Amino acid sequence: MTQAPTAQIEAVLDLTAWTVPMQGPEDFGALWNALEPSLHGRDLSRTPVHTWDAPQGTVRLEIVRLDPAAAVAGPRTTVSLVAVREAPAPADRCEVCARARRPAPRAGLRCDACAADGGSGRICGDHAVLLEGALTATCADHRPRCQECGDLASFWCAGASCRSRTAWCARHRATPPQGSGAPYCPGCHRIAFPGCEEPGCAAAGTIACDWHGPDRRPCGLKACTRHARRWQVFGPEAIGLGLCRAHGGVRDVPAEELLRQICAGAVRRRRPVLPSLQAFGHTLRNCGHRELAVDYTRVRSLLAALRSRADADGMRDLGRGMDRAATRWDRELGKLRGSAGTGEQLVERLRQLVVAQDPRYGAELARGLRLEEYKPAITSQDRSREATLWVLVPGHLREVADRGASRLTAYSGQLGVTIRLAGDRNGQRRGNR
Ligand SMILES: [Zn+2]
Ligand SMILES: [Zn+2]
Ligand SMILES: [Zn+2]
Ligand SMILES: [Zn+2]
Ligand SMILES: [Zn+2]
Ligand SMILES: [Zn+2]
Repeated sequence: MTQAPTAQIEAVLDLTAWTVPMQGPEDFGALWNALEPSLHGRDLSRTPVHTWDAPQGTVRLEIVRLDPAAAVAGPRTTVSLVAVREAPAPADRCEVCARARRPAPRAGLRCDACAADGGSGRICGDHAVLLEGALTATCADHRPRCQECGDLASFWCAGASCRSRTAWCARHRATPPQGSGAPYCPGCHRIAFPGCEEPGCAAAGTIACDWHGPDRRPCGLKACTRHARRWQVFGPEAIGLGLCRAHGGVRDVPAEELLRQICAGAVRRRRPVLPSLQAFGHTLRNCGHRELAVDYTRVRSLLAALRSRADADGMRDLGRGMDRAATRWDRELGKLRGSAGTGEQLVERLRQLVVAQDPRYGAELARGLRLEEYKPAITSQDRSREATLWVLVPGHLREVADRGASRLTAYSGQLGVTIRLAGDRNGQRRGNR
């Protein structure tokens, strides 16, 4: 097998900056035949790239292999064009390069404003302006200006309002907190990282208000950790619901509404757990609903009524959450009713003790005594509480009861429970769940 004789020079013909359209192999042949003689007598080893400039553009020859014997080319030197780099179709050329009559490479980017002016809008990497925040390219002439001040823009805002379509200058950039690299304008920054609602506080608002408005959506106003109000409806240790300044006054709210707010807030949490009946009672007491606070049967039926309205109110999550808690509430109510029975018996025995041991006021006091709540003892590994009997004493007998405080201790010992007067329970009782 004989190998075709290798040419002395192998080269690439680069026509990317040549503006005359080439139709086929004949056109390339004709162009080469016109150029080749000008190589004769040149020392081709001095540079691998040789150029010809003409009004129609520039032709480049890149030598990729040179036989040293043919370093100075002559008419008998054999040249093989191993590749021809053609100019991109006019529609693919960088418009800026083309206007400057420079080699116009295939341009992968596009300036929409140029395109809107009737051109192809194509721009090469050298002429494209790419700002942070979006892959939107423009030519230098169409570089966007700041929305606010008209200075040359330096970024596209990635925020909720601008959505990478509005550009801003460096001065009007609100740098987001560390960890998030997206550039924001001041307005979008306020939306993404709202400030504390407290007037004059510059801290970021991180705790949103959970109070549900008539539209069944949470208020959402944010406050910093220092100014946020926490409504401890899940017990003293669990993180409570957030409340803004406007919704912080939960004291003057009807009980039904309080229960609705607590449940609606609870089911929106990442791990939704609705409070126990006793925890509801604790919150109700703190919010001024003293009698209802210990009437668990009524609390339970208010919850049931709330449940039955939930779907019609468009609060399906609330309904589902309450369904999950229903069994637990019913079981708890059963226990509480048992405790209430025990409580009534204890109060009856207390009445007898009072009559027998307080000859002066005993009879009157005994008639006025009422059970508020009986809490049985708890002894478990993580918690313990002694049995406590909360008794109501009518106002006019309160002084008598207070004077007989030492007797109260004696009665407690005799009944085997701690007796407490309900008037002392001014909503600040702790440790209740
Ligand atoms: Zn260009
Ligand atoms: Zn442009
Ligand atoms: Zn923005
Ligand atoms: Zn600006
Ligand atoms: Zn604040
Ligand atoms: Zn609010």
